[in-house]
Amino acid sequence: MRKYVIIGAQGSGKGTQSLLLARDLDLVHIGVGDIFRWHVQNHTKLGAQVRRAMAAGELVGDDLVEGVVRDRLHQHDWNYGFIIDGFPRSRRQAEFFLEGYDIDGVIHLDLPDEEVRRRVLARRLCSECGMDYNLIADRPDQEGRCDVCGGELVTRADDTEEAVAERLRLYREKTAPILELFGRKEYVVTVDARPDADTVQRTLREKLGLPAPR
Ligand code: AMP
Repeated sequence: MRKYVIIGAQGSGKGTQSLLLARDLDLVHIGVGDIFRWHVQNHTKLGAQVRRAMAAGELVGDDLVEGVVRDRLHQHDWNYGFIIDGFPRSRRQAEFFLEGYDIDGVIHLDLPDEEVRRRVLARRLCSECGMDYNLIADRPDQEGRCDVCGGELVTRADDTEEAVAERLRLYREKTAPILELFGRKEYVVTVDARPDADTVQRTLREKLGLPAPR
């Protein structure tokens, strides 16, 4: 069983890289932001609690986040392991996680701030199935429509200039320092996230000592 954490600023390709790795290794991909977005879209109580913080690019409170992660991991549908994306994002979350789970590797996707801004502002999301697109590198075949389900492509509520700036600030202040914490106990691999998705995937597999993509 393999357990990985993927860390990087927004737009660094965490979702894409997690899915590529999960598909080949039969890992369950746990996207904490995706879980929150599902709750917001479905108007649950949790959705109402996190909607405002998310739209502003702020972090959701640690208690709520830890509850969501604990519930998700307790489902134990991850026979071959998991890759968790979007968590931990603060020192407290990292400590909570390290106490409960042995991790095989922490993947750190490194992207300069300028490129983060450029990518995030070009990001689109399918309103039906959640598939991610990017108007720079990963355009849909038909403008504004999802290639998979035909759903309408929308901009994430938190992909605005202001929210991006706030998320970047929080990332540098709170998330980046936890790499140090992991670095002491776990195996952190830092990968340059600027090249295309396949190259990034190949590099991270090499660094983790995993077979090349199928
Ligand atoms: P993401 O899709 O990972 O960019 O997450 C979207 C938003 O969900 C973030 O900007 C936060 O508001 C919230 N969120 C996701 N994961 C966490 C976390 N580990 N801690 C706090 N807030 C989070």
